[in-house]
Amino acid sequence: MDLISKGWFSEIQDDLWPGQSFSLKVKEVLHKEKSEFQDIQVVETETYGRCLILDGIIQCTTRDEFSYQEMISFLPLCSHPNPQKVLIVGGGDGGVAREVVKHPLVKEVHQVEIDDRVVQVSKKYLPSMACGFDSEKLVLTIGDGFEYMKNHKNEFDVIITDSSDPVGPAVSLFHESYFELLKQALKEGGVVCSQAGSFWLDFDYVKKTMKGCSLHFPKVGYAVTSVPSYPCGHIGFIIGSLDANRKLEKPAKRFEKSEIDALNLKYYSSNIHEAAFTLPRWVEKHFYE
Ligand code: SAM
Repeated sequence: MDLISKGWFSEIQDDLWPGQSFSLKVKEVLHKEKSEFQDIQVVETETYGRCLILDGIIQCTTRDEFSYQEMISFLPLCSHPNPQKVLIVGGGDGGVAREVVKHPLVKEVHQVEIDDRVVQVSKKYLPSMACGFDSEKLVLTIGDGFEYMKNHKNEFDVIITDSSDPVGPAVSLFHESYFELLKQALKEGGVVCSQAGSFWLDFDYVKKTMKGCSLHFPKVGYAVTSVPSYPCGHIGFIIGSLDANRKLEKPAKRFEKSEIDALNLKYYSSNIHEAAFTLPRWVEKHFYE
């Protein structure tokens, strides 16, 4: 199905968000291919800048990507007292790598992305994100995140899963067994953070994923950020810590305003960190009951 009609791209996904779809007016299709894993498109939009679309689903736009990339990176990094060694799973556009390497305590970043074509296309069309791949701190492996995790034990302080939605190659990254592998790959006191969808869209799925995480992590929280180009303008993250005493909503590392400015952070701050975990009453009641 061609998702661009009369100059508008529409994100129609009846399984993931039935009965609704976000649309963007397209100025130009810059790239279109079918890789071994997924359909890849980059379009120039009228009001959201460049947009990466995988299997018909918006992954990021240059207008609002910082909200997602900064929050999925700094929420877990600042929930750990000393995040020296970090793993990113997915993240083929490079935006999460761009943010993680900024953190002053981070010494070494590994990334495992299943689709090299997403990396190459992002380098060509989305250089403001793909600049993350240029860091000397980063080692990129092309492979499946689930399989990679089986071979890494007791190695990372923080693992960030920046995956696409739970269809196609990313399905395994939402299973309870994936959280078990994450736990084994972490050092003592380690922290994980996974893209977890919006409670407005699939409340039960988010809750099920949180339950999967809490089987292996004594401390689990759900934090949100606002991203207008994602369905419902909103996305959440599941954060798990192996330290049962860690208060996730209280940053282990607080940044002063001058540090935030020096890191060129446009969305994340220590106050936003605390606010992100505050949930509407109906959500809190059901998630933590
Ligand atoms: N911010 C985006 C979102 O939430 O929609 C995600 C961005 S990033 C482009 C998602 C990446 O996850 C894609 O590049 C995709 O190839 C990768 N991916 C999907 N399944 C994977 C797997 N099993 N192992 C590693 N990477 C995977």
